[in-house]
Amino acid sequence: MTPPTTEARVSALRPQLEAWRRHLHMHPELSFEEHETAAYIEAELKKMPGLSVTRPTATSVLAVLRGGKPGKRVLLRADIDALPIHEENTFEFKSKRDGVMHACGHDGHTAILLGTAKLLSEDAANVAGEIRMIFQHAEENGPGGAEELVTQTPLMDGVDVATGLHLSSGLPAGKVGIRAGAFMASPDMLTLKIIGKGGHGAQPEQTIDPIAIGAQIVSNLQHVVSRNVSALESLVVSITQFHAGTTHNVIPDTAELVGTVRCFSPELRQRAPQLIERVVKGICEAHGARYEMNYDFGYRPVINTDWVAQTLRDIAVAEFGEGDVVEAPQWMGGEDFSAYLEKAPGAYFNVGSASDEADSHWPHHHPRFTLDELSLETGVRMMYAAAQRLAAEG
Ligand SMILES: [Zn+2]
Ligand SMILES: [Zn+2]
Repeated sequence: MTPPTTEARVSALRPQLEAWRRHLHMHPELSFEEHETAAYIEAELKKMPGLSVTRPTATSVLAVLRGGKPGKRVLLRADIDALPIHEENTFEFKSKRDGVMHACGHDGHTAILLGTAKLLSEDAANVAGEIRMIFQHAEENGPGGAEELVTQTPLMDGVDVATGLHLSSGLPAGKVGIRAGAFMASPDMLTLKIIGKGGHGAQPEQTIDPIAIGAQIVSNLQHVVSRNVSALESLVVSITQFHAGTTHNVIPDTAELVGTVRCFSPELRQRAPQLIERVVKGICEAHGARYEMNYDFGYRPVINTDWVAQTLRDIAVAEFGEGDVVEAPQWMGGEDFSAYLEKAPGAYFNVGSASDEADSHWPHHHPRFTLDELSLETGVRMMYAAAQRLAAEG
């Protein structure tokens, strides 16, 4: 008798995948607070023979499978945290926690990696190398769980290659999106305080008006994007907060601006603070104001290793056919998967989760966000095949 195909095994696992995902969806926890989530994941992994299950940090879980054949060490990653959003979905497994919701799909990522662990545990004797499956806390909130795991624990010691996925409501369920090279941006934060001199709104000539100066800075920062950076490179500078003043007839002393700066290129990322400060300094000096500027580097950009992206593409084509594999578009969002890529080659990819039937076209971080659960099967088939191919290759 021929053994069942991966597709058949994963299809048989569908009710379990849904049960895991729905349980997690009902019990979301915020970044760094994933205590019940981690306990649940740990308990489920301990039902699977052959896995060594540990807790590298208080709210993360690591399952290691040492295969029966020689091979490489592969890291598979799922993030497990939820968001401070009040869910507006009405299905029976909606969040039971007011104001907290799995609105990014990390419930699905966790179910997918649990499913992958189950399949790998069932055929441990035939698996090559060592598969480390990390259920990572705190992707949604900087400094991020990945950084903690990479710098404070031995998770990445000896890892040869890493992969992970994000479900995508921008891609139809059943499809896989992969891209080599720069994939996701670095989300850095700019805070700026303009220190002028307040006074009567009727006599602006006696003041140094931080609001007028701030307005010039906001519009001139777009010149950094359009006139200091090549049109072939991507840079986004968005001022997203502007706080100043208390009433209609007083020019305030100060104005505070906050914004986000995003790009794909590590070189441009290093240059961006100087380009921005030059504009801020010039405008403030021209008008006699002072400023305080803080620039906080967030997650690094996600830059996929070409050969890993190509291997994942080959796997996706073999599993689903050329028609269901697309080139994932670059996007300016950030992802702390980049922390693993500092230590080993790897690639991050998308699995489509959108469909009309599941009403799952809503954007990530929206109160109506949800998944077509076919994406759980697609995700397991990809991760299971990736674990085997990446461990055996080379
Ligand atoms: Zn998110
Ligand atoms: Zn996410």
